[in-house]
Amino acid sequence: MKICALCGENIQKQDETVEHVPPKLFYPKSLRPTIMEPFWTVPSHRKCNEEYRLDEEYFYYFLMPLVINENSEMGKVLLDDLRERRKNPQTASIIKWLLSEMKPETSSGIILPPSIRAFDVNIVRVQNVTLKISQCIYFKEHGKFLPKLACKHCELFEKIEGLQPLYRVILEHIAPVSIAPNVFNYRYICLDGLHLLGLMFWGGYMFCLAFDDPEGKK
Ligand SMILES: [Zn+2]
Repeated sequence: MKICALCGENIQKQDETVEHVPPKLFYPKSLRPTIMEPFWTVPSHRKCNEEYRLDEEYFYYFLMPLVINENSEMGKVLLDDLRERRKNPQTASIIKWLLSEMKPETSSGIILPPSIRAFDVNIVRVQNVTLKISQCIYFKEHGKFLPKLACKHCELFEKIEGLQPLYRVILEHIAPVSIAPNVFNYRYICLDGLHLLGLMFWGGYMFCLAFDDPEGKK
């Protein structure tokens, strides 16, 4: 029986689906014909998969300004994609709601770069998606479940120069893995029982995460 990459429990056949890594939404429609390999997927419960849908949309739309700042070419592709999706009434209402949520201040939580503070980003939702993607990558690499509680550190970087030395080493020495480098790539290494991940989104910003070994190996 397969286990769910998101909750670690067994999956009954009728509840089984696949979780895309990263979420399928993250691939702008205009780029999809250029992606040759099949999308990466891991097994999950239908229910677990569905739980992230709104947070994924939030992540995609709300962090888009960072891509526009850092990678104008990709920023344009994403904005065009946003315009297309606006035709869908459900997406239009999400976008409207997102815009209404923008406020001059934010609360504390995971460490966000300064330009993000212009919006009141819901860090819990952003972190939820980041951790989920990390769980999926771990499952893809090891075929095993990574509990979110194993996460020791999660930080968002807009500029490579801002990276902490440990993450900078990863960036410089570990080759990125990707099926569509302009959309998403990841770097992963296990060092002395610490699992380090660098997730790059749309060539615009990077999340770096550190996890304790879920099996307690040192
Ligand atoms: Zn599950």
